[in-house]
Amino acid sequence: MIRVRACGLSDVGRARNHNEDCFGIDPEHRMVVVADGMGGHNHGEVASRIAVKAVQEFVEQTADHDTTWPFVYDARVSRHSNRLKTAIRMAHDKVLRAIRHDGSLIGMGTTVVGVLLQGRIAAVAHVGDSRAYRFRDGELELLTQDHTWVNEQVVAGYLSLEQARVHPLKNVVTRALGGESEVLVDVREVEVEPGDLYVLCSDGLTTMLEDEEILSYFKEGHPIEEICRRLVDEANQKGGLDNVTVVIAEILAGD
Ligand code: CA
Repeated sequence: MIRVRACGLSDVGRARNHNEDCFGIDPEHRMVVVADGMGGHNHGEVASRIAVKAVQEFVEQTADHDTTWPFVYDARVSRHSNRLKTAIRMAHDKVLRAIRHDGSLIGMGTTVVGVLLQGRIAAVAHVGDSRAYRFRDGELELLTQDHTWVNEQVVAGYLSLEQARVHPLKNVVTRALGGESEVLVDVREVEVEPGDLYVLCSDGLTTMLEDEEILSYFKEGHPIEEICRRLVDEANQKGGLDNVTVVIAEILAGD
C-alpha cells in the first residue's frame, strides 16, 4: 500500500489584481486538481472555483460506488480513470449551468487538470493548458498535451517549440470547461512508484519558467512545500505576469 502526501500554493502574481487559479487537495481520496479560470469581470475566478469544487465533490461521492452516469463508460481506461473523467465532465456541466442561471457570466471558462491515485495507477485527466508532470529518477516528464492552438500546430509540424513560445496566439486554448456544450477530456494512466512526484500547475508557471528551470528545483531534493514556494517565487521574480499555481503530490512507500 502506498501513501500520498500533497501540498499546493497559488499566488496572484505581480501583474494581476485577482487570482483566477484555484486548486484542491483531497488526501483521503488521493486526488489533486488545479483549475485556471478565464473570463471578464473576474468571472474566471467563479469558473475555476466551481470546477475544483465539482471535481472534488464527485470524487468524494463516488468513493464507494462507481458511476459515470449520465456519461458513457470509456472502456479503454480503468474505472477510476472513468471516475476522474466523469468528475471533470460534471464540472463542465456545472460551469455551463451557472452561465445559464446568470447571463452576466457568459464567456467564463476554466482549464482543469487532475490526478487520481488508485493502487499503483495514477489517472491523469485534463482540459486546456494547465499541466501535469512527473518527476522521477532526476527527470521531469510532461504527462499532458496542452489544448492550445500553438501546441496543436507544433504536434502537426507547422510550428517549432521556439516559435510556439513567442507566438502571438500562444495563450489561445482550444478546449475549456464552460465552452461548447460537449467537452472532450483527455485521460491517461501511468504506473506509480514510491518516490514519484506528481506536479500540477497553471500556465502562470510554465510561461515564466522553462521545463529545464522547473526541473532544477526538483533536483535539489527539498521537501515538496519548499519546492512549491521556490517555484512560485521564481515565477514572480521573472515578472509574475499571470496567476501561478503549483500542486505537488508525493508518493511514499507504504508500511
Ligand atoms: Ca493562467
